[in-house]
Amino acid sequence: MITRKLFFRFPKSEIEKPIVYHLVKDYDLIINIFRARVTDNKEGYMVLDVTGEEESIERGVEFVRAFGVAIDPINKGVRWIEDRCTHCTNCIAHCPTNALHIDDRKTMRVTFTEELCVECLNCLSNCPYGACTSAF
Ligand code: SF4
Ligand code: SF4
Repeated sequence: MITRKLFFRFPKSEIEKPIVYHLVKDYDLIINIFRARVTDNKEGYMVLDVTGEEESIERGVEFVRAFGVAIDPINKGVRWIEDRCTHCTNCIAHCPTNALHIDDRKTMRVTFTEELCVECLNCLSNCPYGACTSAF
């Protein structure tokens, strides 16, 4: 079993289809939705963890793509923009999962481990330099 974090962008026509239901029922996947939103122009966005056999995930992803859903491998909800980070460490105390953390106490440089991020968005309002951003 593996877990993949995915970012779905639904076109207007597909936002009411029970796509997640089918991923669970037909592809035997465990879904953990971190965040979902329908924008003013009726596009849908969803950030989710998908757990299951690798082959089932691949088949599930193909099923989702067939609905015209874009799966963005880069933009996965919260992004940490390293170039903007001044390593002020302000975010560390506000990150509940240690996704933003310091590896080396000598350098005190902050790093981001995307797999640990649960999309709580705390860091967005606690980063004075806009280094943490979100599509939501
Ligand atoms: S969104 Fe939450 S869990 Fe993710 S890095 Fe920011 S504070 Fe940490
Ligand atoms: S608060 Fe922003 S600038 Fe400061 S360490 Fe965290 S991500 Fe970097």
